[in-house]
Amino acid sequence: MPYTTTHVLIAIILIELFREYFFKDNKKFPRYYILIAAIAGIMPDLEYIFMLPNFHRGFFHSLFMPLILLVIGFFILKFDIKNNWIRKRHMKLSFIFFIFAAGSLLHIFLDVIIRDGSSLLYPFSDFVLGFNLISYIPLSQDLTLIIIDTLLLFFWIIWMEFKLKIYDYF
Ligand SMILES: [Zn+2]
Repeated sequence: MPYTTTHVLIAIILIELFREYFFKDNKKFPRYYILIAAIAGIMPDLEYIFMLPNFHRGFFHSLFMPLILLVIGFFILKFDIKNNWIRKRHMKLSFIFFIFAAGSLLHIFLDVIIRDGSSLLYPFSDFVLGFNLISYIPLSQDLTLIIIDTLLLFFWIIWMEFKLKIYDYF
């Protein structure tokens, strides 16, 4: 999992864009959600920590992971399950699960297109789908990943700066 930062940056940029275009009211979208998206974006790689070293790309990198999180989110929404700690921070428990579902799906998608691939149907199939697009770029993989991270980080900084300036005028 050498490109953890890429996963985090893409997750926080996407949720920030989502907030910007779908939640005009900032109060309905606490900043904690951005932190949660960052965690969700790297969550599938937690299986490297908890599982045996030779146990590669298992269940956390399958499509069942986001699906289960999505179902739990809908379950919480339907039965109106609440948690006081979360409510005090103006968050919704169901929405947290939706962020985890979207974040893990994003992670799996990035693994499939960028480099390592994912075992989308694990444990039913061990087949790993991976397009390894990074191998088509005529630079070393490390350098390519650093360039991608730098561009993403610049986008994030400029975005924040631009938004701060916008707020100054209103
Ligand atoms: Zn991964």
